[in-house]
Amino acid sequence: MPAARRMVVVGGDAAGMTAASQARRLRGPDELEIVAFERGDFTSYSACGIPYWIGGDVGERDALIARTPQEHRERGIDLRTRTEVTAIDADGGRVRARELPRDAPPGPEFWTGFDDLVIATGARPRRPRLPGIDAEGVHGVQSLEDGQAVLDDLDASQGRRRTGPGNGGTRKAVVVGAGYIGVEMAEALLLRGFGVTVLEGAPQPMTTLDPDMGELVRDAMCGMGMEVVTGAPVTAVETGQGGRVRAVTTEEATYPADVVVLGLGVAPETSLARESGLPLGESGGLLTDLAMRVRGRENIWAGGDCVEVLDLISGRTRHIALGTHANKHGQVIGANVGGGYATFPGVVGTAVSKVCDLEIARTGLLEEQAQEVGLQFVTVTAEATSRAGYFPGSRPMRVKMLAERGTGRLLGTQIVGREGAGKRVDIAAVALTAGMSVEQMTYLDLGYAPPFSPVWDPVLVAARKAAAAVSR
Ligand SMILES: Cc1cc2nc3c(=O)[nH]c(=O)nc-3n(C[C@H](O)[C@H](O)[C@H](O)COP(=O)(O)OP(=O)(O)OC[C@H]3O[C@@H](n4cnc5c(N)ncnc54)[C@H](O)[C@@H]3O)c2cc1C
Repeated sequence: MPAARRMVVVGGDAAGMTAASQARRLRGPDELEIVAFERGDFTSYSACGIPYWIGGDVGERDALIARTPQEHRERGIDLRTRTEVTAIDADGGRVRARELPRDAPPGPEFWTGFDDLVIATGARPRRPRLPGIDAEGVHGVQSLEDGQAVLDDLDASQGRRRTGPGNGGTRKAVVVGAGYIGVEMAEALLLRGFGVTVLEGAPQPMTTLDPDMGELVRDAMCGMGMEVVTGAPVTAVETGQGGRVRAVTTEEATYPADVVVLGLGVAPETSLARESGLPLGESGGLLTDLAMRVRGRENIWAGGDCVEVLDLISGRTRHIALGTHANKHGQVIGANVGGGYATFPGVVGTAVSKVCDLEIARTGLLEEQAQEVGLQFVTVTAEATSRAGYFPGSRPMRVKMLAERGTGRLLGTQIVGREGAGKRVDIAAVALTAGMSVEQMTYLDLGYAPPFSPVWDPVLVAARKAAAAVSR
């Protein structure tokens, strides 16, 4: 007997399969049929782990797969891998799809009807149309297939070791883009024994930080032996024998490269949604309500990297492509399609990453973002240590804090430092979510013992400074 309703999911990773799995937990196959289409071979994989797999911290690809297609099928989800959705008929309640057999042309298109549709198509890596950009040896790192291609290329490049004058035989890697994926890949390539150059068009690495904090990242990366060139948009990729990458050029210089990794950020993958007339925001992400229902559509849901999220501090919608959000969106969608009720309240803009032993974290607004929304604010920075100063292994960190003039409301926090720095940003993330003032933060009852922090945690030191600045 057919199920009473059919849920169709487009995209088989974090948002899509979390939604499918949660709905399945709430509704059995006799009540809800779940059909999920995934263009690739893998489901529920962690792209977040790719840099650590390439760098060698994670031993094998399969460790990054939380649930295989077969495991989803065993849980009652009709999962169709290598099947691409090519159109959404939002009014007609159906999607068009086709199979993508390996080494063969795409199969015929077919339509599948839905009662509920979940759009979880993720994001598309930016790849500027530059001469040579598609040359052999130029890689993205969006999918597990990309990660495997990078690893294969790194192994093969052993045999292509440079022998020219002045390079000491070191293999050269150029990373284009110094956002968090770029710096994580720079670390991975350094660990793989490459000489690493990072080229960034902006004046600083990590534009998710204020310039002064970004400079700390640059200094640390240079101290690790990387070359970091900012204000240097790439103009072309030069190729050599057999069309393989040989160098990357900017207006000012040419950088030899045996391998190139692109980390230029992503844009929401919403081409199908656009064609079907669904509402998109300024960054091209789908607009949803708090239940993750596409605005104006009763039975179409969207989550993950293809949507814009509400920034709780600025009150604006923004596109922030993070797995932490995608999983939560999927959970909310699954609960709602499964007959429950859940909402995703929005984000405060928290992110953490690292390059070698340097930890980089932010939450809330940067100075520029606070100015954009017309907030009056004070800014303080505090230099502190990860443990009691006398305790072995204590490492320095800088905490920058923004607080609203007058009210003292915390607006944002950035932290750059060594071990123990990054996850401290979560204290500020909770304070932001709770709408706390920096004065209130000063007396937060955080854990203290010398191996974990100084008696005044670095975040509280910054909060004290901010509270003093606000009251001046
Ligand atoms: C190298 C790297 C490191 C990262 N590190 C972090 C991190 O440390 N922390 C963090 O929070 N986030 C991180 N992220 C981001 C995180 O991986 C994404 O935010 C998350 O994967 C988004 O999940 P999603 O389900 O929305 O989209 P995706 O994971 O992009 O999945 C979308 C899926 O939809 C499929 N699809 C798209 N269109 C169609 C179609 N028409 N038909 C069928 N299938 C389709 C795609 O093949 C894809 O599998 C990282 C990303 C990368 C690339």
